[in-house]
Amino acid sequence: MATENLSAVLYSVNDLRLENRAVPQAQKNEVLLRMDKVGICGSDVHYWVNGRIGDFVVTKPMVLGHEAAGVVHEVGEGVTHLKPGDRVAIEPGVPCRSCDYCKGGRYNLCLDIVFCATPPYDGNLARYYTHAADFCYKLPDHMTMEEGALLEPLSVAVHACRRAGVTIGQKILICGAGPIGLVCLLTAKAMGASSVIITDISESRLEVAKTLGADHTLLVGQEDAETLSKQVAGKLGQPSDVTIECSGAESSIRLAIFGTKSGGVVVLVGLGPAEIKVPIVNAAVREVDIRGIFRYANCYPTALQLVASGRVNVKPLITHRFSLEETVKAFETARTGAGGAIKVMISCSD
Ligand code: NAD
Ligand code: ZN
Repeated sequence: MATENLSAVLYSVNDLRLENRAVPQAQKNEVLLRMDKVGICGSDVHYWVNGRIGDFVVTKPMVLGHEAAGVVHEVGEGVTHLKPGDRVAIEPGVPCRSCDYCKGGRYNLCLDIVFCATPPYDGNLARYYTHAADFCYKLPDHMTMEEGALLEPLSVAVHACRRAGVTIGQKILICGAGPIGLVCLLTAKAMGASSVIITDISESRLEVAKTLGADHTLLVGQEDAETLSKQVAGKLGQPSDVTIECSGAESSIRLAIFGTKSGGVVVLVGLGPAEIKVPIVNAAVREVDIRGIFRYANCYPTALQLVASGRVNVKPLITHRFSLEETVKAFETARTGAGGAIKVMISCSD
């Protein structure tokens, strides 16, 4: 029986502590997991630095982490599809299952969703953690636990590309080459995009994007969005069929609209300031559809298949690795981007 459960607990702004908590027990239809790999997401860092994201405020100590994979340690009553020793990716949001959104398949919009490391719910950056068994996906033997953890951001990309209607032969603009922009690049390519241009304000991130298969890159500076949109069209040979905005910056959302062809689609993935100025009439009269996305629904199985089949290789995203004991150092690395950090991975098992 495990007794020690070292956990990374955020108390308040800049106060992230490692402490020993009780090992939870698997309830009905849950599994107790021995956590293995947990990636640090921008939102984890944001809670650490600001203590809140919009209306979600850290008011009591909260375990961080939600991009995770673990090994089944014990199964609760009623669990039949998993057994101790199974390696699983953990979909971090468990919805109510009974509201109209849940029943309609858009469970990411459920008002009662319990999502790891979104206040007031604990995440899984710990040695042990319990989770709804049906939100755990068994990994094939040839997939690594790190790949399992990366199914979380990859699922965001799958959802964004689905909402965008990405399909074979399209020309696509992706704004922002952070981890999310990069998984959108990989996914759009896997879904058949013929040409992808990706933007960033950082040359080094664009270099990474090139190695991951970007056909074109665009380093953006102080130019206005309309000027930049002409450069995008120049490189793609036309304005984009679909644009996936992954920075949240106002200037970038402006480019997303100007850079998309009439009748095209802009998907807003990046979440920046709550209110911004955008060329809305330009979008309206050119019938450019602007769609938001929030996390994902029914995307984990697809993300898993993309990796298992070899169509998407997420491994190059991981630039740094730390142990659970080194969590604060890992967060510091993710925050500063030191050493070209893209995805920082924490190992909870050694
Ligand atoms: P990140 O901060 O690592 O990446 C953002 C990238 O955008 C950086 O590389 C940055 O240099 C670049 N950038 C900044 N200003 C720019 C500009 N004007 N033009 C082009 N690029 C610019 O973050 P991430 O982890 O990759 O996440 C990206 C965004 O997606 C964040 O806003 C995050 O909150 C959001 N997000 C949304 C969802 C959702 O469900 N909607 C899910 C996950 C992440
Ligand atoms: Zn619901």
